[in-house]
Amino acid sequence: NFRCRSAFKLLEIDDKFRLLQPGCSVVDCGAAPGAWSQVAVQRVNSDGTDTELPRGTVVGIDLLNIPPLEGAHFLSSHNVLDPATHAKLLELLPNGQAHIILSDMAPNASGFRDMDHEKLITLCLALIDLAAKILQPGGSLVCKYWDGILTHKLQEKLSSAFGSVRTLKPNASRKDSAERYFLARMYKKPIK
Ligand code: SAM
Repeated sequence: NFRCRSAFKLLEIDDKFRLLQPGCSVVDCGAAPGAWSQVAVQRVNSDGTDTELPRGTVVGIDLLNIPPLEGAHFLSSHNVLDPATHAKLLELLPNGQAHIILSDMAPNASGFRDMDHEKLITLCLALIDLAAKILQPGGSLVCKYWDGILTHKLQEKLSSAFGSVRTLKPNASRKDSAERYFLARMYKKPIK
């Protein structure tokens, strides 16, 4: 049983693209109440259910409380944008590196479509900075956004940091909503 219907969006994306492999390290941004993390724990085997397969790592972050989940390490009451959160991630991840960054983050919707769109794009852009700190070369990023005038800006930034970027609209996402996901793969580590 999943904590939230949003699990089906990630299941759909992962069934198609097979991002979450046993042994992978995953950071789940905006993880509360924890449904995406449930999917990630199962697929990367971070609870060690399958003793034959490598054991992965799942770290979830949210401003809100995330009820405990076996196989996941949760940073409740943490802001993904806060450098202190980044420091904790570096400690929790094996070798300080993630294979996959997931983000289903969403700001509290004001109801003003453009404003909500811009806020969420700002959050997504911050994930590119987070990637520079913790994402392995070749790694992937899945991030939710609300479509709007700044979508192309986010897409461009993702395209310069990743070898492949595509737009996804899972069937489990309401047809009439502006919700979309970017799947960015083959992360290119920026040269320092
Ligand atoms: N994927 C989750 C699941 O399956 O259970 C649902 C995520 S919910 C749609 C979006 C979450 O993003 C909210 O819980 C919200 O608190 C969180 N969020 C928004 N901005 C954030 C930020 N700056 N840092 C951490 N979490 C944030």
